[in-house]
Amino acid sequence: MLIIAILLIKSLFIMIKRIGILTSGGDAPGMNAAIRSIVLAASHFDIEVIGFYHGYNGLIDDNCKPLTLRDVSSIIQLGGTILKSARCPQMLQPQGLKQATTTLLKNKIDALIVIGGDGSFKGLLSLQDHWHGQVIGIPGTIDNDLDGTDYTIGFSTAINTALDAIDKIRDTADAFERVFLIELMGRHSGHITFNVGIACAAEQVISFENFSPDNAKETLEKLAADIHAAKKQHHHSYIIVVAENLWQGGITKLADDLTTISGIDCTACVLGYIQRGGSPDAKDRILATKMGVAAVQGLLDGKDGFMVCEQNNSISYLPLTLTIKHTKTVSESLVRAQDNILALTAKQNF
Ligand code: ATP
Repeated sequence: MLIIAILLIKSLFIMIKRIGILTSGGDAPGMNAAIRSIVLAASHFDIEVIGFYHGYNGLIDDNCKPLTLRDVSSIIQLGGTILKSARCPQMLQPQGLKQATTTLLKNKIDALIVIGGDGSFKGLLSLQDHWHGQVIGIPGTIDNDLDGTDYTIGFSTAINTALDAIDKIRDTADAFERVFLIELMGRHSGHITFNVGIACAAEQVISFENFSPDNAKETLEKLAADIHAAKKQHHHSYIIVVAENLWQGGITKLADDLTTISGIDCTACVLGYIQRGGSPDAKDRILATKMGVAAVQGLLDGKDGFMVCEQNNSISYLPLTLTIKHTKTVSESLVRAQDNILALTAKQNF
């Protein structure tokens, strides 16, 4: 009873007048939608929003500007981030954290919302040792690798962009009856690779979840045998999607190795940064908008040190310390379906 009374009294005293926001790490489509919804929600509660530029560099350099409703009136459809993003190595040093704290105090910031990935959340946690304002993270990364949330902002758009590109590559691959190896983003996790691989009906998906460098030779031999089997079955085209940072020497080396061992021309294609750009799709806009509102509401409810997340279609909050503990793994059923059933089509009779 006493605890409830104390919490009630404490919540009555949470007075937030100014929220700072920044976007950090790799940009992701939908970050602008999140900025917009934070400004709208804050305005609803008479809270001012200060946008800091270039990720945490904005805190180091005191580079910021108040964000008004007018500033965010037509940004929901824009890719990238109007606040810019950047890496900021100074945040790893005590001096940088002190500098960031000085800026937050100087600008009378009561709470800080950071939209980014796990690195950006580690930045927030480090900042908590120096600054006593409230902090909340919003998961914004195309990689979808943050533990505790079903989806991160930008993932849906990124996989649709990749899918669109691969559908086009499939046309030319069909016309020339070619083998294509396509490299997808995702740093060290295969969420993009597996989801795109399944959606574009790739003949093979090679990612961290089903590949080990120790078995590189076997993988190469299996791929070569499968390509030959596919050719015998008169497959028009053969697409292998590959996660970035996977094959030593990169995807061009993998295509060369496969050409040598199979005797069939294999072409490498790196999709690269187009996966990070473009107008956010409806799913990312809606997710970002829900999360932006929830971040402001969470702060007003006294949340400090949490990530806004979506689990089973419902918004909740998870301690940042928990989300940075593990990288979210790709669903095992997705990996099994691809490896045990879908990847075997070349060996089946058409
Ligand atoms: P993405 O996965 O999309 O690239 P991210 O947020 O993980 O996003 P990082 O480059 O890992 O991207 O981190 C972004 C920034 O967060 C760093 O440039 C740095 O300023 C800050 N940061 C990262 N790790 C730490 C840490 N351990 N302590 C303090 N700050 C950190």
